[in-house]
Amino acid sequence: MALWITDACINCDVCEPECPNQAISMGVEIYEIDPHRCTECVGHFDSPQCVQVCPVECIPVNPSCVETPEQLLAKYRALQAGSASPSPAVSASPV
Ligand code: SF4
Ligand code: SF4
Repeated sequence: MALWITDACINCDVCEPECPNQAISMGVEIYEIDPHRCTECVGHFDSPQCVQVCPVECIPVNPSCVETPEQLLAKYRALQAGSASPSPAVSASPV
């Protein structure tokens, strides 16, 4: 699964530079994660770096982005190749 940022986000800015996939950016009110770029850090780290640094623990998994480890690795490889394509199973935010 990709991760997402809940409205508990305090806009502390620490997660954005930690993301190896440039998946985190400032949204309208709080930071957001692009599910097409989030690999749960698969390919880069053993655990999600944004979750490690978030002081308010507001980055859970996105239940709308169910992906297997193989799909996450494929997304990582596509990002590295510069040709990431959205998965049909991925949507912008949980419903
Ligand atoms: S889990 Fe990793 S890839 Fe996904 S948003 Fe957080 S830092 Fe970026
Ligand atoms: S680290 Fe957590 S609180 Fe800080 S900007 Fe990122 S999601 Fe928001």
